[in-house]
Amino acid sequence: MSQNAAMITLALSKGRIFDETLPLLKAAGVEVMEDPETSRKLILPTNRPDVRVVLVRATDVPTYVQYGGADVGVAGKDVLLEHGGQGLYQPLDLNIARCRMSVAVRADFDYAAAVKQGSRIRVATKYTTVARQHFADKGVHVDLIKLYGSMELAPLTGLADAIVDLVSTGSTLRANHLVEVEQIMPISSRLIVNQAALKLKRAALRSLIDAFAGAIAKE
Ligand code: ATP
Ligand code: MG
Repeated sequence: MSQNAAMITLALSKGRIFDETLPLLKAAGVEVMEDPETSRKLILPTNRPDVRVVLVRATDVPTYVQYGGADVGVAGKDVLLEHGGQGLYQPLDLNIARCRMSVAVRADFDYAAAVKQGSRIRVATKYTTVARQHFADKGVHVDLIKLYGSMELAPLTGLADAIVDLVSTGSTLRANHLVEVEQIMPISSRLIVNQAALKLKRAALRSLIDAFAGAIAKE
């Protein structure tokens, strides 16, 4: 549990999740007092003495909340599926940081033919759990290569035939002569809550969850 029983600790990652969570926090009466892009602090105070924000890597948010390093957090569905979601209560889809998880290949790679022939396909991705499940469901044989970033490079260098990655506008794919050949699932970010904290800090967390629920953008 985070150190102070009266304190709510919220784990966020810098960038789009932080930026898109700010309006939801505002609706809950919480304003972050420092800009993570210019501050070097990892713990940011808010206008409320009982709420603070901790900045962690996007993939670390579920881990912080699972073990009580934070009471609550915001994490992408992509990250939650890879983490597994153990020990997490997921009360809300916040409908922010929206994109989709897709399969992409080089424009000159005939994905449909490779799948039809039943050939083994080499797939590079950060999302090995989702990718393994997706290709197993399709009955496609894949060799998965785990990467931690810049997936687009893999088909261009011959490391892999395909990638599984997040796509929003598709401009990064286009810039690298890749084409999206399958959409696996839509992705957005969810509010996640530590299950023990939900009992111990019930009133404070409930009002945060309710304020977020009222402020979620519909579509
Ligand atoms: P880093 O960029 O520091 O390696 P990251 O890629 O995990 O970490 P972000 O790029 O900020 O961090 O992504 C955080 C979350 O935002 C992702 O887990 C995903 O849910 C969502 N996201 C990622 N890319 C996009 C995108 N292009 N459009 C919308 N949402 C996205
Ligand atoms: Mg990124």
